[in-house]
Amino acid sequence: RAIVRDIDMLEEKNPSIKPVPSQEIDPTVYEKRFLKKVRDLGEGHFGKVELCRYDPREDRTGELVAVKSLKPENRGVQCSNLWCEIDILRKLYHENIVRYKGICKEEGGRSLKLIMEYLPAGSLKEYLPRNKANVDLRMLLRYAIQICKGMNYLGSQNYIHRDLAARNVLVENKNTVKIGDFGLTKSIKDKEDYYTVKDELDSPVFWYAPECLIQLKFYRASDVWSFGVTLYELLTYCDSACSPMTEFNKMIGSIYGQLTLAKLVKALEAGKRLPCPADCPQTVYTQMKKCWVKAPEERIDFEELISVFQQMLA
Ligand code: ADP
Ligand code: MG
Repeated sequence: RAIVRDIDMLEEKNPSIKPVPSQEIDPTVYEKRFLKKVRDLGEGHFGKVELCRYDPREDRTGELVAVKSLKPENRGVQCSNLWCEIDILRKLYHENIVRYKGICKEEGGRSLKLIMEYLPAGSLKEYLPRNKANVDLRMLLRYAIQICKGMNYLGSQNYIHRDLAARNVLVENKNTVKIGDFGLTKSIKDKEDYYTVKDELDSPVFWYAPECLIQLKFYRASDVWSFGVTLYELLTYCDSACSPMTEFNKMIGSIYGQLTLAKLVKALEAGKRLPCPADCPQTVYTQMKKCWVKAPEERIDFEELISVFQQMLA
């Protein structure tokens, strides 16, 4: 109390030390001129992500952040998609989901950037092949549990991710992973339990369940199917020699071409699935296969997967 009174008195004597009302300094608004690019972190279909230092004092003491923007050829067309992604990510709070930090707009809103926390180890796709020696089966299962926890939370908020894959899971440190890239995430209304694709996007077909490929319908259970493929990637340490694309193409005997999709659907309908990765215990492969049950309503869900993996670790 005495301290508060002292501050009040000081403020009366010296009005300039009065704190600025918090609305005026919105910590989620980043100014373009202070955002200094350090290097590229990666890119996907529509966006690219750069490592930047946000340095308002201009003395290189500012924090490092990951900055996502659209590739120049996609500006305009995809701008509303980035707005959607920002709108979703800013509402998500979970230890296994990448943390939203803010936005950066320039020139009357002509360009837009998403600012998120920087995860130095990159995605599982970069991390696993390099760190194979330090990541054992137990660690892989811990990553699997964390991905399921993030996905379970996402589902509880009525979102479906639609792009769950190792390239979209980021590594915070050797013990922790987080789901990133919410570019294809959609909200589903309470009364419906699926999302119908309207615009034909460049879809990650090898991660997609049959109902996504055939009826263009996405359920929460369709994310479970993609998780199964992600689990397959984990167990192969993201080795490109046996990636989902390589294996499916081997299976349907085709190079990447027009008939791939039809053939892929046919193979899946005939019950063909990705093989058990080398050194993957049958008990783990069994879980993958439970994710790849044809009927979405019969697939395992994230909660059950979490408890199965926890039992394996016990
Ligand atoms: P896109 O929507 O274009 O696929 P992503 O959000 O998946 O973009 O990012 C592309 C790549 O950039 C990722 O695969 C990852 O390697 C890297 N990346 C993305 N976000 C971060 C981050 N917060 N920290 C570190 N690397 C990141
Ligand atoms: Mg991506």
